[in-house]
Amino acid sequence: MTHPHDRALPRAVRQAMPIARDILEEVAKQHGVCIRPVPLRRLDTITGKSEIIDVPCGAVLDSKCPPCAKRNRQLRMAQCREGWHLDTEPSITPDEPNEEQRWLVEFRADMQAKRDAAEQAGDDTTDLDAVLSGLDDEINNAGMRGSVTGSAVPKRTRSTRRRQDAPDLPKRKMTNTTLGRTFTSGDGKTYRPSLFVTLTLPSYGKVRNSVPIDPDTYDYRRAARDALHFSKLVDRFVQNLRRVAGYDVQYFAAVEPQKRLAPHLHMAIRGTLPRAEIKQIAAATYHQVWWPQADEVRFDGDHLPVWDEEAGYLDPATGEVLPTWDEALDALDEDAEPLHVLRFGEQVDVQGVLAGTPDADQCIRYLSKYLTKSIGDTLDGGQAQREHATRMLDALRYEPCSPTCPNWLRYGVQPKSAKPGMTPGHCRGKAHKPEHLGYAGRRVLVSRKWSNKTLAEHKQDRRTWVLEALGQTDEPTDLHRYIWRPVPAGDANVPPLAVRLLRSVHERQRWRAHLRELEARAAGQDLSAIPQAA
Ligand SMILES: [Zn+2]
Ligand SMILES: [Zn+2]
Repeated sequence: MTHPHDRALPRAVRQAMPIARDILEEVAKQHGVCIRPVPLRRLDTITGKSEIIDVPCGAVLDSKCPPCAKRNRQLRMAQCREGWHLDTEPSITPDEPNEEQRWLVEFRADMQAKRDAAEQAGDDTTDLDAVLSGLDDEINNAGMRGSVTGSAVPKRTRSTRRRQDAPDLPKRKMTNTTLGRTFTSGDGKTYRPSLFVTLTLPSYGKVRNSVPIDPDTYDYRRAARDALHFSKLVDRFVQNLRRVAGYDVQYFAAVEPQKRLAPHLHMAIRGTLPRAEIKQIAAATYHQVWWPQADEVRFDGDHLPVWDEEAGYLDPATGEVLPTWDEALDALDEDAEPLHVLRFGEQVDVQGVLAGTPDADQCIRYLSKYLTKSIGDTLDGGQAQREHATRMLDALRYEPCSPTCPNWLRYGVQPKSAKPGMTPGHCRGKAHKPEHLGYAGRRVLVSRKWSNKTLAEHKQDRRTWVLEALGQTDEPTDLHRYIWRPVPAGDANVPPLAVRLLRSVHERQRWRAHLRELEARAAGQDLSAIPQAA
């Protein structure tokens, strides 16, 4: 393959190449090949060989190209299917870090160094911070628990008075199992029932075709805050569910956008509870956000806090130092009200599902239906819905998305880890972006003992399957054999994208052909082994 810089190519060919590249991208997509591969340098510590390897973007970055998103969805479906109706207790042992995990950690270390250097140079670190948090997610997804940096900062201890009360719910004695009950029918068949639950947020005002009838009275602020803190409400629900169920309930859940642009939740639950109890738990579940107030605007327009090297942010008029994040939290006294209280809406859908039925398959497809879309992907995208999305974004613009959000300055509080250059309304956190619409959390929530496998192990399964089909063994990799390093942008050793895509497509085609051949051969054998039907 040649590339456009090759002077030996006739001019006409060179000019045609951008078009060829578009076509190539399409071909790559059809073959399920990542179209935005990330080049990484892999040093083999045994042979000393160093080479550049393309890693699919879905394995490294937060944003996934369409083929990676699709593959991710297939992996998630396999993971969901595997855990839902387990009949033996999963054995959870921390795994040895595999190669993927190792390079993720090393890559993260490099990015951290870059970020720290940028901070020292007084540069904006927002993008690098976002990359780091994305990597942390990936590291967790790759099956490692906890964050790499650990929690060096001691957790704040809150007054017990402010601790959230357990809601008034029945409580069963806890048994040490993750498995649901089974039922045996008259003919001795065992049934393994489970649940598929859909939880939604409350109404913020009447809607028609998923768009507010009266935008002026629609409660966008509440919708924004509910979306920002939705994942914590889900955590509460699971806590309460386990308490009531009396066993270590496992779940696989997906957060998806509703047409009215609020996140909602589909959850496959292992085991079963009475429908009425699930509804009771949903109704009793709430989450309080104990943050400083964010309703009274203190600084706006040109009247914004100013940065002082020594003291942090000051009131521009009086020179008064604004309370730091910790001071503002300490100032929440016993009479303080939570900034926000979240509850689920009345719409709770509970469906009983039996293992191995078409119903179960249908639910699994449903659970992963939106995984390739972002929350903000409006589903039909008419004019009214676009305006609705714009109003939602406006409401999110000045809502603090996290303790470090610059929006705190608007309400007279220094954000956590305050630094110069912070401007309210210009937070670059994910939650404020049109594709997230307030919900920046994970789209798939899987409990720890769902299956015996992490997503990385499910990926490994597929790899092993392919290699076996090819008649090759997956050589056990020595964990310390490879060292991975990011490749700087513009590195001359990285061939043009078109070349790399073509190479990947070629490889994919080769093993597909090989697979077909093996399948045909296997089918032939099977046919001869099966007695002919009369
Ligand atoms: Zn990709
Ligand atoms: Zn923010």
